[in-house]
Amino acid sequence: MELWYTEKQTENLGLTCKTNNTLHVEQTEFQSMAVINTVQFGRMLVLDGMVQTTIEDEFVYHEMITHVPLNTHPNPQNVLVIGGGDGGAIREVIKHPAVKKATLVEIDRRVVEISREYFPEISCGLDDPRVTVIYDDGIKHVADHKDYYDVIIVDSTEPVGPAVELFSYNFYKSISESLKKDGLFVAQTESPFFNANIISECYQKISEVFSITKLYLANVPTYPSGLWSFTMGSKKYDPEAVDVSAVPDYPTRYYTPKLHLSCFVLPKFVAELIVP
Ligand code: SAM
Repeated sequence: MELWYTEKQTENLGLTCKTNNTLHVEQTEFQSMAVINTVQFGRMLVLDGMVQTTIEDEFVYHEMITHVPLNTHPNPQNVLVIGGGDGGAIREVIKHPAVKKATLVEIDRRVVEISREYFPEISCGLDDPRVTVIYDDGIKHVADHKDYYDVIIVDSTEPVGPAVELFSYNFYKSISESLKKDGLFVAQTESPFFNANIISECYQKISEVFSITKLYLANVPTYPSGLWSFTMGSKKYDPEAVDVSAVPDYPTRYYTPKLHLSCFVLPKFVAELIVP
């Protein structure tokens, strides 16, 4: 018998994957969580019915949400990841030679525990001596740490439940206060095809707080529409002005120094979402 899992990505469209088996299902304090072993993408982490990460395509998202901001800052020593309980962003952050301290603030302890158990390839960086894992609300954490981080990465779920405030103007303001005077941050900002309003609104709010605001794209097959956006807010450094010949050499599968620049080249319909 064949068993298939469908994420209803919109009212009218779903991503359907043939499964080998379901490895884990639970209701945590914050969200419903499942680990499904799919034939096409390998193990898949699902929160509240939405695919968060899969073994086969996780590298795209995790490399692009980390290496673009890290290589925009000339000396990213102290880095914060908000959300990201699967550990993929942290695994990438600690590849960067400048990073001395990486802090993960995840609201749901069970996401980290289940990722350690079922996704060792993704969570493997969490035990690195430079990494501290804190179970708390990212909003509270940034409010409590002023003028502290070089780079902040908001690796959040979609704007539902505990992540709603992670897409607010007040949160971006608080992030700015938590960054040092030349700091920068990036947030995942959803799909240009299906979440145009989220992209426009986030860009608008971030540009009210940060003098340099830039949108970039990557191709993530298991996320709705496959085309995914990230928005960077920066106090000083322009990601498109980086001397990419000086980007340190470390292993990646998607990110390259050339791609660092080309990912900011937007298709017309996406560029139109962020016209003031
Ligand atoms: N790459 C993913 C995506 O876009 O689908 C996101 C992955 S990661 C698993 C998202 C994490 O953000 C979840 O584990 C969730 O618990 C966490 N999260 C949501 N709201 C949060 C908050 N306010 N503070 C800290 N973590 C939060």
